[in-house]
Amino acid sequence: MENIHKQYALDGVNVHALRGINFSVDRGEFIAIMGPSGSGKSTLMNIIGCLDLPDSGSYILDGQNVARKRLDELATLRNRSLGFVFQNFNLLSRTSALENVEVPLVYAGMARRERRARASALLQQVGLGDRLQHLPNQLSGGQQQRVAIARALVNRPALLLADEPTGNLDSATSHEVMEIFAQLRRDRGITIIVITHERDIAAYGTRTIDFKDGLVVSDKVTPARVAAQVG
Ligand code: ADP
Repeated sequence: MENIHKQYALDGVNVHALRGINFSVDRGEFIAIMGPSGSGKSTLMNIIGCLDLPDSGSYILDGQNVARKRLDELATLRNRSLGFVFQNFNLLSRTSALENVEVPLVYAGMARRERRARASALLQQVGLGDRLQHLPNQLSGGQQQRVAIARALVNRPALLLADEPTGNLDSATSHEVMEIFAQLRRDRGITIIVITHERDIAAYGTRTIDFKDGLVVSDKVTPARVAAQVG
C-alpha cells in the first residue's frame, strides 16, 4: 500500500479515516493490526479486503493493482485472492462443518469429490477431522472459528484476513485459535493479517502495526512470543 487515503462525508462533515498509509506485507508474514476504536482499522480492512476502494494511493494485491479495478473485477479478486475470518464466525447454521468449508468451492465450480477431499483435509488440519458432519450449534465457539478458518483457506488465497477473530471467544479458546493461525503460517506459509484489540493476541504475529488517527504510528517485528505464553 502506498499513500492510501480515505475520507467519509457524513452530514456535511468530512472524516479523514486514512491519512496516508504505507506498508507492505511479504508472503508468509503474520501481521497484527492494532489501534483504538475510530483509528481507521475497519476502513483499512475493507480496502485490503477489496470491499471498498481508497480515494487515492495505490494498493497492489498479489501483483494486481486493486485501485484500478472495476467492481466486478474486485469481486473476482476477492474470491480468488482473499480468505475472510470474522468475529462471529458467519457459518451457515443448517449446514455441516464439511459443507460450510465446501461453499467457496461450490461457487468456484469444483466437482463434488474434489471439494469433499479438499475441505476434509483442511478440517483435519485445523483439528476437526472427527467433526465433519457436526452442525455449527453442535460445535464450541473455538471449533466454529476453526471451521471458518478452514473455509477461508479452501480457495488457497494469497492472503487470509481476520477481523477480531477472537472477539467472541474466551481467553483459553482465543489462544487455541491464534495457535492455529501461527501453525498455518509455519507449516504452509500462509500470509495472515489479523485485527485485534489485545496485545497478547497480537503477540502471535511476526509483526505488529499500530494505528492512530488514520496513520501508522508503529510498525515493528513482534517481540518473541513471551506475552502469548502468559495469556
Ligand atoms: P476502527 O475500525 O479503528 O474503529 P473505522 O475505520 O471504523 O475505525 O473509522 C475511522 C473513522 O471513520 C471514524 O472516525 C469513523 O467514525 C469514521 N467512519 C467509518 N465509517 C464511516 C462511514 N461509513 N461514514 C462516515 N464515517 C465513517
